[in-house]
Amino acid sequence: MALAKDDGNWELCQECTALVYRPRLLRSRRVCPECGHHQRLTAEERIDTVTDPGSFVPAPQVSGGDPLGFADSRPYPERLAEARGRTGLRDAILYGTATIGGRRAVVAAMDFGFLGGSMGSAVGETVTRACETALRERIPLVLAITSGGARMQEGALSLMQMAKTAQAMRVLREAGLLSVCVLTDPTFGGVTASFATLGDVLIAERGARIGFAGPRVIAAATREELPRGFQTAEYLSERGLLDRVEARDGLRPLLARLLAVTSVVETAEVTAGESPGEEPQQASAQEEPTPYATLRLARDTRRPTALDYIWQICTDFVELHGDRLEGDDPAVVGGPALLDGRPVMIVAHQKGHTTDELVTRNFGLAHPEGYRKAQRLMRLAGRLGLPVVTLVDTQGAAPGIRAEDRGQSWAIAECLAATSELPVPVVSVLIGEGGSGGALALAVANQVLMLRHAVYSVISPESCSTILFGDPSHGPRMAAALRITAPDLLALGVVDGIVPEPPGGAQADPAAAAGHLKAAVRQALRELAGLSGDELRKHRYERFRVLGMIADD
Ligand SMILES: [Zn+2]
Repeated sequence: MALAKDDGNWELCQECTALVYRPRLLRSRRVCPECGHHQRLTAEERIDTVTDPGSFVPAPQVSGGDPLGFADSRPYPERLAEARGRTGLRDAILYGTATIGGRRAVVAAMDFGFLGGSMGSAVGETVTRACETALRERIPLVLAITSGGARMQEGALSLMQMAKTAQAMRVLREAGLLSVCVLTDPTFGGVTASFATLGDVLIAERGARIGFAGPRVIAAATREELPRGFQTAEYLSERGLLDRVEARDGLRPLLARLLAVTSVVETAEVTAGESPGEEPQQASAQEEPTPYATLRLARDTRRPTALDYIWQICTDFVELHGDRLEGDDPAVVGGPALLDGRPVMIVAHQKGHTTDELVTRNFGLAHPEGYRKAQRLMRLAGRLGLPVVTLVDTQGAAPGIRAEDRGQSWAIAECLAATSELPVPVVSVLIGEGGSGGALALAVANQVLMLRHAVYSVISPESCSTILFGDPSHGPRMAAALRITAPDLLALGVVDGIVPEPPGGAQADPAAAAGHLKAAVRQALRELAGLSGDELRKHRYERFRVLGMIADD
């Protein structure tokens, strides 16, 4: 032990206290090979971990001054000079342009080693310049963040950097440019409460501690014992506050994929249909099941789920999580992906095949946080100009005290309104059960398509029977009365087209079903491709405006 300590080639892991051979530690980008603990990186090391090798072109660094003439035990300028000498940086941040997976982006990284990564004028100015550069060049922004908070030594001017950077991020948002914040250990205070959490996508590094007030401050103020894992990336992710938690070596591939699936300008032209067999055909040869038999087909747990279809019809799906408020609903999935090489935003209800999956996904019954996540992702698609494709498959929104207490109706209603105002094409496909408002929340589309054996209804036939007859036994009769099948709904104008299914239903041949689905979505997107944002909104408005039967006196 003593020998190893004396040898400059060994370093102690602060987490597991293992002695680690330094060259090995550097090779693993300072992730402890024994326990996986992610040690802090300098700004330069951080930029190396997230950008393509050799691609970073630094912008001139910004220096701050001493606006207050501040001194504690030592004058602030002395501390600044010392930090500059130690880190080789002008302040706690570096920025410039680089490529990630071959795509250009503005990249900035903060350095905790420079006065605790605190934000004074120089950091605020640099973040703002990074935003402005992204805006000018119309390329995405990637910020890698670590900070103890606002810098005390610059007083209220530090506080003002929160407003300044928040405004710059807002402008970027309005301009339809992607911003990604990579939150690393530790990220606290005024930085978390401004630009660090305003990115379109928030990725936290595994184990990172992130918060507003520090745990010691909270413990002292509340005199409560803090929950296990409090303020860690994993803990916050469960609360819907982050899109992803990623290990250090996964960051660059994830960022590369994210940039690729949200980059509208540089994508390949739509490729022609892969085979003529994929085009929708009329399913004339299929025998006609009764409405109730169709309902049972639609509910069959062997039927492909949304994720089954997503993996078959898209590539590079990057699932994003959380409603940024209180949770991540596993009953709703979504994120950008490539369809025929073109970026789209997918949002879908997700059920499952096995009992475990079904329980985990709450049988596809979404809670308010699910609808808020859907809304967030659709709005992001609207800003970035990505067409939205939704896959609808739910018996309805989750009934229950928890859902009601947290505004289930409000969440569904806001989702309907948010979808209606999107300036991008929206295509919805009912792939299984389309139950009530919980289904419609994801189906305010320009084109609403329906798989041949899917159903769409204001209420489940069994519930309808219970309300009208006092028991569910009249379900089959009500299934017919409610007109829940694709041909009936096509006739009523509720859906615009029927997607054929293979004989025996999608469950009999999921690959063939996915082929039909893909062809139908592709066709719908092609038909909507020429319309402007206003035209798409108007088209959607008119589409739903004419539905209903009224008799004017
Ligand atoms: Zn360790």
